[in-house]
Amino acid sequence: MTRGEERMTKVVALGIDVGSTTVKIVGVDTEGNLAWHFLEQADPRVEDQIERFLVRALSIPPGPPSSPNYGRGRGAARSAGEKERVGLPLVATGYGRKLVRQSTRSVTEITCHARGVYRELGHGGTLVDIGGQDSKVIGISPKGDVVDFSMNDKCAAGTGRFLENTARRLGVPLEYMGQVALSASDEVSISSTCTVFAESEIVSLIAHGVAVEPILRGLHRSLTQRVVAMIRTVGLTPPLMLSGGVVQNQAIARMLEEEMGERVIVPRHPQLMGAYGAALIALDLR
Ligand code: ADP
Repeated sequence: MTRGEERMTKVVALGIDVGSTTVKIVGVDTEGNLAWHFLEQADPRVEDQIERFLVRALSIPPGPPSSPNYGRGRGAARSAGEKERVGLPLVATGYGRKLVRQSTRSVTEITCHARGVYRELGHGGTLVDIGGQDSKVIGISPKGDVVDFSMNDKCAAGTGRFLENTARRLGVPLEYMGQVALSASDEVSISSTCTVFAESEIVSLIAHGVAVEPILRGLHRSLTQRVVAMIRTVGLTPPLMLSGGVVQNQAIARMLEEEMGERVIVPRHPQLMGAYGAALIALDLR
């Protein structure tokens, strides 16, 4: 048995986060530790993708059996009209959670991100989740309950999409965007708050010979200021915590710290926090 397989045998509950940009699945062990995960860009044929994810997850040798009245075991026959459950408790979250017909329960991203981050960091505060096409600010109590939230899913300007479009346009790999932005000694202000107009503005700046670095720094500033405006709407209860794929961009945490004058805490796997929270809820269902 390889080391990877050894870890996988511990999985007793699963959480799947079907996001607008990526799909993530997390398996937890009996103690709720993150024991296995898998991530892919969202496929337009999302139901097929979910099926593939579950096949992959269930090829994990199972851990101790879940409660006898739950689930039907791997490869169990499915009857018409009945949910196609998998052999482990499975909670679905994310934008496409209703498409996971195999799930035991579907739960909002707000609840799942709060649950995952609270377990990972061990305290409440204000959580900002910045995903591919939406961003959320979630107030978490010292006991881990969601006490307030605000969500932006109408405008791409405070989301990963805002950076992704420009990364492509400027030929800078997404993973280096933050690094390049932080390397700039000056900053160009991007006045357009709409993604489409910002993109045209950037094309025009490039055409006028402005270097990529200050443009990227300005672009990150614009995104962070959007996020700060959302945080101010909900109100900040420190500490400030971040989750979501965009947080892997190191400039986001750094600039948010600058803008808010607050230390920012990032969990080990920010992009997996929704799926992790879902898996922890699934663990409660055993
Ligand atoms: P969703 O849950 O909405 O599908 P995610 O939380 O998975 O979104 O975040 C996806 C976003 O994360 C993408 O828009 C992309 O911009 C950003 N992202 C992913 N990986 C990185 C990385 N290594 N560096 C910077 N940004 C990243």
